Amino acid sequence: MKKMIEKEMTFCDECEKGDYVYKCMGCGIEYCYDCRKLLLKEYQHEVYFTGSGDGYFCKDCDINPPAKVKKIHSLYKAVEMLKNEVSGYYNITQSLTNRIVVKLLEEEYDKMEGRE
Ligand SMILES: [Zn+2]
Ligand SMILES: [Zn+2]
Repeated sequence: MKKMIEKEMTFCDECEKGDYVYKCMGCGIEYCYDCRKLLLKEYQHEVYFTGSGDGYFCKDCDINPPAKVKKIHSLYKAVEMLKNEVSGYYNITQSLTNRIVVKLLEEEYDKMEGRE
């Protein structure tokens, strides 16, 4: 059986590829998977859960978010900062741990050397 059906499709606003698109939360511009990587800033998801695809802002909206998303955008930014801070602490802890381990090993080694 053949049947004509009407089907809604989404197209990338940049390259016009008919694909699943990612939407800017500020201005609503939509990009395909490939263009998204270049043109959308992706924040931590589920900060403000809207059902799907939250956390995307185009470059313009990321620099100058429209009034309606200003607050939400600053939340995404705050979460990103916290995340960076936490991973910073993690790195500091790691390098301190490594330094202490090296120091202990050196001391052990010196002791061993001294015994012989
Ligand atoms: Zn595209
Ligand atoms: Zn936008």
